[in-house]
Amino acid sequence: MSESKNSTLYDVAIIGGGINGAVSAARLSASGLKVLLLERGDFASTTSQESSNLVWGGIKYLQSYEFGLVYKLCRSRNQLMRCYPNRIREIGFLASIGPTSPFGRVLGLFGTMAYWVIGGFYTKMPKLYLANRASEIEPSFIPGRAALEYFDAELPDNDSRFVWDFLATAKRFGSEVCNYSELVEAQFDGEWNLVAQDAFSSEKIEYRAKSIVNATGPFAANVSELLGVTPESRLVLSKGVHLIVPKIHNSDRVLAFWDEEGRMFYVLPMGDRSMIGTTDTRVESETKEVTPADREFLLRQINKEMNLETPLTELDIISERCGVRPLVAGSAKGETTDWHKLSRKHVIETAPDRRVITVFGGKLTDCLNVGDEVFAAVKKFRIGKWRAAENWYGEESRDRQQSFERVAKEVFGSSLAAELIVSELWRRHGSRALEIVELARGDQELREPIFEGLGICGAEVSYVLENEQVKTADDLLRRRLPIAMCRSSIEIEQNTRLNQLLSDVSSLSPKGLA
Ligand SMILES: Cc1cc2nc3c(=O)[nH]c(=O)nc-3n(C[C@H](O)[C@H](O)[C@H](O)COP(=O)(O)OP(=O)(O)OC[C@H]3O[C@@H](n4cnc5c(N)ncnc54)[C@H](O)[C@@H]3O)c2cc1C
Repeated sequence: MSESKNSTLYDVAIIGGGINGAVSAARLSASGLKVLLLERGDFASTTSQESSNLVWGGIKYLQSYEFGLVYKLCRSRNQLMRCYPNRIREIGFLASIGPTSPFGRVLGLFGTMAYWVIGGFYTKMPKLYLANRASEIEPSFIPGRAALEYFDAELPDNDSRFVWDFLATAKRFGSEVCNYSELVEAQFDGEWNLVAQDAFSSEKIEYRAKSIVNATGPFAANVSELLGVTPESRLVLSKGVHLIVPKIHNSDRVLAFWDEEGRMFYVLPMGDRSMIGTTDTRVESETKEVTPADREFLLRQINKEMNLETPLTELDIISERCGVRPLVAGSAKGETTDWHKLSRKHVIETAPDRRVITVFGGKLTDCLNVGDEVFAAVKKFRIGKWRAAENWYGEESRDRQQSFERVAKEVFGSSLAAELIVSELWRRHGSRALEIVELARGDQELREPIFEGLGICGAEVSYVLENEQVKTADDLLRRRLPIAMCRSSIEIEQNTRLNQLLSDVSSLSPKGLA
């Protein structure tokens, strides 16, 4: 097995390329630190590609009286909505008040109003619809039930794409970010000597760093052990499954119900498809296994709670998502009684003697706070040369967007399909999308949507393959772009044009990774 040495002494090595690793990399490098990030699979290939894609204040935590958490999450949501007017969009949640709902319409209206107030009135005001009106606006609801509408936000392009945005920022500020690079050895002698193994070649590369951020989500304990630190916090893991099915309702809203266990579940938009979920099952280890019981449970809830012309069956499943929520369960010695009620707050622990910071738990919605808190913790180590952080998050200005749209329209034209492509190009790439427009300028085929109904053209696929550290077909289809979420594996296999574009990567597979 070959070995090589990277001679740079990094200020911080971040282990884990999910949302928490990515925001930490963006925040620290924007403040002038020399940052290395190691991710053993592809970026965001674990929990951060399996969420419900919601940027939300956590309305359901009002039921467990976690007002402080809801206030904090609402503030984080509002900040993200303000800074990402395209990548994050406000969306209505229409909740059907049926027999499994834990409250009636009056208490429900009171709760959603309280949520709106705690959220600083930042979204549209909640509304109550009586039964007749509820069936009119959402014919797929069971007739005779009232509905409540409140507002939160979602990531139309998938959670993993949002993670990539932070990594792209970190790279812009000079971070070295490596996917398929697993931390396998670590020794501290005043500085960290790290060994990472490449998942394709098995080559081992040595790195040196002054400090470490352990942002390995559900694997925090394993990596702590490797680093020789004993954190106070302990994680318990809860599996959550989503199924993607053909679009089952027409409006551009999220539909909300309560499942037979009294937990909220949703029908969420996923491109031109619907995503249903989620489950909440305690598991002992990280898993991506969707069991027949998970599928059966989700399909049963939807068929019970919706007035569908034809009930959904397993044959309708286009794709699946499965991840584990890393939930902080108090101290390493503490026992957990009701794990369903475990808080979704994150905890950041520091081991100053070894200069290790560990991030436990958290939500995508709270990612900017995680970035700031990791920064504050690293600052205490007094390493590296600091400067005031430059723009480490947020979209470019509206003026830039408008000038992009002018150029893109000249090239793509103004059909409905072209408009969808142009708006999604800006949303996913900002002004980097100008390079995609230039690629497409002289080539009609590269301007065409890769699948009818999706705003993704051949030029975008080529650009992403070339510029976004794509190493396997799944990196592109599942994470940089939401293709494998909205189209089945058979549809993808049969798409000759897409397969031609992917021919360079589709044969690669990392050793030892699923
Ligand atoms: C079903 C479900 C629904 C959710 N819905 C929402 C939602 O709607 N909104 C919201 O805000 N939050 C939601 N969450 C929570 C959110 O997704 C997670 O809190 C977040 O993604 C955790 O990110 P992370 O970076 O901590 O972990 P991860 O994304 O798991 O990243 C950790 C990374 O560390 C890597 N790693 C591990 N060991 C090593 C090693 N030795 N070397 C290198 N790399 C290593 C792993 O490969 C992994 O990619 C949901 C979670 C689930 C499971």
